[in-house]
Amino acid sequence: MPKKDEQSSLKTAVEEKKSEKVDGSIRTRASEENEAVFFTSNKEKDVVVLPLLALKDLSPFPEMIMPIFVGREKSVKAIDYANASNGNVFLICQKDPTLEDVEQGDLEEYGVIAEIKQVILLQDRTLKVLLECKYTASLIEMRESEKCGMEAFVKECYRAYSIGLQEERQALQKTLKSEFDKYLRMTKTFDTNLVNFLETLHDSFEIGYYISERVNLSNIEKQKVLSIKDEEELLEYLILKIEYLIKVVEIEKRIKNRLKSQIEKNQKDYYLTEQMKAIQKEIGEGEDSREEVSKLEEKIHKVKLSEHARNTALAEVKKLKYMNQFSSEFSVIKNYLDFLLELPWGINTETNKNLDEIKQSLEASHFGIKEVKERVYELIVQRNRVKSFSKSTILCFYGAPGIGKTSFAYAIGKAMGLKTVSIPLGGVKDESVLRGHRRTYIGSMPGRIIQAVKDVGSSNLVIVLDEIGSMGSDWRGNPEDVLLEVLDPMQNKNFQDNYLGTGFDLSGIIFVATTNYLDTIKPALLDRLEVIHLTGYTQEEKEKIATDYLIPKILAEHGLTKEQFSIDKERLNTIIRNYTYESGVRGLEKQLSKIIRKAMCEIEAQKIDKIDITEERINTFLKKPVYRPEERKESRIGVVNGLAYVRSREGQEGEVLLIESTLTPGEGKVEFTGNLGNMMKESIQIAYKKLLSKSDEYGINAEDLKNKNVYVNFPSGGTPKDGPSAGVAIFCSIFSTLKGIKFPNEVAMTGEITLYDTLKVGGIKEKLLAAYRNGITKVFLPYDNSLDLEDISKEVLDNIEVVLIKKPEDVLENLSFLGSKQCVSI
Ligand code: ADP
Repeated sequence: MPKKDEQSSLKTAVEEKKSEKVDGSIRTRASEENEAVFFTSNKEKDVVVLPLLALKDLSPFPEMIMPIFVGREKSVKAIDYANASNGNVFLICQKDPTLEDVEQGDLEEYGVIAEIKQVILLQDRTLKVLLECKYTASLIEMRESEKCGMEAFVKECYRAYSIGLQEERQALQKTLKSEFDKYLRMTKTFDTNLVNFLETLHDSFEIGYYISERVNLSNIEKQKVLSIKDEEELLEYLILKIEYLIKVVEIEKRIKNRLKSQIEKNQKDYYLTEQMKAIQKEIGEGEDSREEVSKLEEKIHKVKLSEHARNTALAEVKKLKYMNQFSSEFSVIKNYLDFLLELPWGINTETNKNLDEIKQSLEASHFGIKEVKERVYELIVQRNRVKSFSKSTILCFYGAPGIGKTSFAYAIGKAMGLKTVSIPLGGVKDESVLRGHRRTYIGSMPGRIIQAVKDVGSSNLVIVLDEIGSMGSDWRGNPEDVLLEVLDPMQNKNFQDNYLGTGFDLSGIIFVATTNYLDTIKPALLDRLEVIHLTGYTQEEKEKIATDYLIPKILAEHGLTKEQFSIDKERLNTIIRNYTYESGVRGLEKQLSKIIRKAMCEIEAQKIDKIDITEERINTFLKKPVYRPEERKESRIGVVNGLAYVRSREGQEGEVLLIESTLTPGEGKVEFTGNLGNMMKESIQIAYKKLLSKSDEYGINAEDLKNKNVYVNFPSGGTPKDGPSAGVAIFCSIFSTLKGIKFPNEVAMTGEITLYDTLKVGGIKEKLLAAYRNGITKVFLPYDNSLDLEDISKEVLDNIEVVLIKKPEDVLENLSFLGSKQCVSI
């Protein structure tokens, strides 16, 4: 709307065409500044009657010059009447701009008295009227009028002006102007001319009306502006309103931006999906993959997944929907989902509850190992009674290779009616073997545990953690840590496999560990295990195992019956003695397999029904004997048989260990060779010093030794040797050298020595078995090991004389090297 001073050319034209002068009842401003001036004899209460012009969309303010188009009959009458009289009309807003006919209730309260400056009659008979707004006034009554269409009875006719220059007012004006400036910039309606003109205004009302006309005020707010007579109130009111409007614009902007980016994202997604569909259609794919994906989705809802697993799976399916069927990503996700859905969520195998049957099954599975069978049976009974364990027992079968550890773990599964899977841990250093790779790796796979569960298709099974003592660790993590989690009933309910990315309940799994060594298992892990020691078998036991278990099993594997193959006891013993040297029966199984394989071929080649294994056949099938115990060397001075429990490549084994010693020229020292550890070296020193200390008693010439060295050697220097258990044997070897006495070669001994006594040592069972295998007939053991003899089979004890000693000298006494015999013989 043009402003008075902006429209100087318009004003000139208006002055020229002004039709009539206002009459004396209305005064013009008496003073331009400082005072509020009323145009009705200074009385606000005086009522003035004027032609009324109802405005539809315009809100007039004093100081405005506005052109309007007048078409309604009553309005035209009002203009004509005013034009014909003093030129003044009362302008007031309609509440509802759509109304053609208005009554008093349809009009606002406050309006403006304006003076007609120009009237132009247009072709369509409407009028274009130029008005100059002057005073505000409030409507008291409106009446229909014959002469002027509508007449208004108005009061409070006034035009207020600023009074004096006050600092506060100036500050308020400045704030209002700057808020207005901000508003214009926010609404992108900023116009330099507008702002510059505003700067020229100093009257608060003029400024207020000028701004009110240009900001987005509601009708009610505009009415309020017209009603305010106090300048500070007006300025404050407008400042608050504009601040509010700015905030609204800011919020609107934020919402718009958000909606815009949302719409952009939706459009982008839509566009990409459509594009992908088009590409898939173009290269002739899509339908199949979509069907595949929707089948997967259906399955996700059907399978009894955990909530987390279901959410994970659904998120992955969503990704698949947007992917190219032939992309590597697609197959990675698809494989993952297939794997996840094939896992036996909530599926359990019905276990055998018949305890008699279980007992019989365990009994029949293996020969001997009575204690192991008993312990396993107890555990199964307990498991059948208690479903969840706060602290579960993890059995760990420990012993030499081929002793039946793994096969007995399988027997547990069989007896319980559960499937068994073995996870070989020997040499495993990488945690991911057990816990899987994260799916970010290309070619990533689940860990062996989850894979085993999936392969078996049931949440309850037996898992054999084979060779748990041969695991390692490196920068790829420590697999023992994973086992700690797996074996802990508190944690394994929600086992986290990296590939799976969601927890899986392992509590239904029976874990059985096997190991050849104990010292390599970390204490934390060892603490979780109940170690059961399986000891080796004697010749007689091996013969039984071969006859009742190994041969029938191998025959079946080769499609032969027991009628087609026969081997007598003597030949079997030849194989055991001359072709194997072990605590277990793995080597024996291999030799028997070899014989049966050859026998099978012979039956086929010669078209015979049956084959007997003779001495010649053993020689042709198995070639030369590998071991000949009877070839043991004759007795020599300084040479004795020690008994050791050594760590071989395959596991801990008992062994007969030769110890040799001799005298060399020197200066009364002890020398040694044979790849010895510190404990062994110390044992040599102790033995020598002990003998020297008793030289008089034993008849040793100590003086003579001052220019001689005692030299001790342990053959097989390639094998490292350590431990204190060779002490007694070293003592005897040096004694033999110093006295020049030969020890019988069918005698062996073990025991740690101190300056006075003999101490207990480990591996007694294995040592005695090794002695037995080697044809030893007398063994000296520390007295403190007497309890170990309870576990030794009758066969061994029948063939070996065991002598318990308290001091190393007891050996010498027993063999009558010192005269009287004092020690205990069993
Ligand atoms: P380990 O795990 O101790 O190295 P295995 O369990 O693999 O030994 O046993 C090797 C072979 O010896 C298997 O064929 C097993 O059936 C057999 N075996 C071992 N001990 C016995 C036994 N006490 N009774 C019957 N067979 C046995």
